[in-house]
Amino acid sequence: SQSISDPLTSLHNRRYLMPRLNEMLSRSTRYGERFTLAMFDLDRFKHINDSIGHLGGDFCLREFANILLEQTRDADVVARFGGEEFVVAFSDVSQADVRRTVNRIILSVRDHDFVFEGCVVPLTVSVGVAAMGELSSIPATPDPLIRLADDRLYEAKQAGRDCLVDASGMLRI
Ligand code: GH3
Ligand code: MG
Ligand code: MG
Repeated sequence: SQSISDPLTSLHNRRYLMPRLNEMLSRSTRYGERFTLAMFDLDRFKHINDSIGHLGGDFCLREFANILLEQTRDADVVARFGGEEFVVAFSDVSQADVRRTVNRIILSVRDHDFVFEGCVVPLTVSVGVAAMGELSSIPATPDPLIRLADDRLYEAKQAGRDCLVDASGMLRI
């Protein structure tokens, strides 16, 4: 299990995620279910490390991982994609419900007190969301889905961070 779990956060790692995404994609193609991927990237994380140190940064990554687990269902796959980037894969969930869940996570991070060595660390997250139904390639593969989620994550950063971008555009509440 060490090879498929991330030692810092105990979440699944990328090595676990990629074959799971393939499975989930084929399942959703077979049953005509919606399949959606959300890519999360903590905002200005370099600055967080610079101000409270790498151990403080590690602490924030673990706290963020817990928020992701708290705010998602058991059926959703939550993984640390690398560095301060995380993925949640949703099967059979409507665009509106994914939007609601992702937005709830953004709000939880914004409102959460990340307390490290007595100091509250202000932290926000940006998210790009992409659904398989938006891809024209058949059969669908994880790579273009990740690519689209990544492009939207970049748009969320450009839009000022602390928000999500999905097929309907930017949302910040
Ligand atoms: P942006 O809002 O554009 O995402 O800015 P950013 O500073 O988060 O972006 P960038 O990708 O430049 O920096 C990511 C930082 O995350 C750099 C790296 O040191 C830090 N990081 C990656 N993995 C870890 C880790 O395991 N622990 C800690 N403490 N920091 C990490
Ligand atoms: Mg990053
Ligand atoms: Mg970042």
